[in-house]
Parts: sequence; C-alpha cells; structure tokens
Amino acid sequence: MGDYVKILKSVLFYFWHFTFAIVQNIMGLVMLAIYKSKGAESEWYHNALVTYIDKKNFGGVSLGMFIFINKNRDGDRLHDTKIHEYGHTVQSMILGPLFLFIIAIPSVIWCNLPYFVKLRKEKNVTYYRAYCEGWSNVCGAWATKERFLTAELIERGRYGQPMYPNRNKRKDIKGRRRNK
Ligand SMILES: [Zn+2]
Repeated sequence: MGDYVKILKSVLFYFWHFTFAIVQNIMGLVMLAIYKSKGAESEWYHNALVTYIDKKNFGGVSLGMFIFINKNRDGDRLHDTKIHEYGHTVQSMILGPLFLFIIAIPSVIWCNLPYFVKLRKEKNVTYYRAYCEGWSNVCGAWATKERFLTAELIERGRYGQPMYPNRNKRKDIKGRRRNK
C-alpha cells in the first residue's frame, strides 16, 4: 500500500471514531486516562491503541479505537484477543452510537450473566456463538488480514462454526484430487 493511501486511511479512521463513534471513544479515553495514571503500557495496532491492564477475570474490551487487554495474556492467545477486540473497534465504526446497544450491552450480559456462564460451561457452547462476538471475529480478521492461531478461534470462531471453512474445503478437494 502506498504511503498516501495509508495516511488517508488513518486520517479517516480517527475522524470517523471521533465523530460517528465519539460516545464510546470518550468512554475509552477516560478508561485510558485511569489506567495510564496507574502506569499501564500501550502499543499501536492497526491505528487502534491497545493498552495492557492488570485486572483479574478479564480478557479484553474495546471502546472505539481504545482496546484494553489483560496484560497476563501472551503468545497465540494474546494475538487472537487483539484480532477479536479489533473486530469490536470495526463494529464501532459500522454502528456508531448504536454499538453500545447492539454490541456492548449484549456482550456484557453474555459475558457475565451467571445463566450464560453456566450455559457455556455445561453445554460446551463457545463464547463466540453469540452474534456480537462471532461477528467481531469476522470483522477483526477481515480488517487486520491476520489469521487466528488458537484452536478455539479456528474451530468455533465464526458463530460457533469453523473460522476458515472454505480453506478446509479447498484442502479437501486438493486431497481428493491427489488421491485419484
Ligand atoms: Zn468480544
């Protein structure tokens, strides 16, 4: 990609976040200020700002362009969490203020309500079965062009279905051809 296109994309990214999606970005800025005052570290990730925070029983959260991830995550899990949370950043750009009602609130309920926690555990339902979470994986993978690495995401990331079904199909076809 040319530098000008890259710069233009970045400008549009920030402009969009601080107009259409400003509500969650202000919330994100407040959260950033709180954790920065406690010495949290950040890094840029596809124009978003990922901040690592020390919080128990916490995976990640995305408020506009501000992403917060448990600093104890590492390796493939951290890699996949970043793509997933970036998906919520993309959802913010698509939905604007509606993000809070269509994604954030349902997501918090799905994540924390004991009924759903129990359902996921006892019936082995993946966290990504919920539309808001599965859609986030699709958005994140599309926007970052990165691939998920952990089995849970690869096998059940797309609303409980495999993340890359076409790829497996192509593999099958190739395999069958090879066998003939
Ligand atoms: Zn999520």
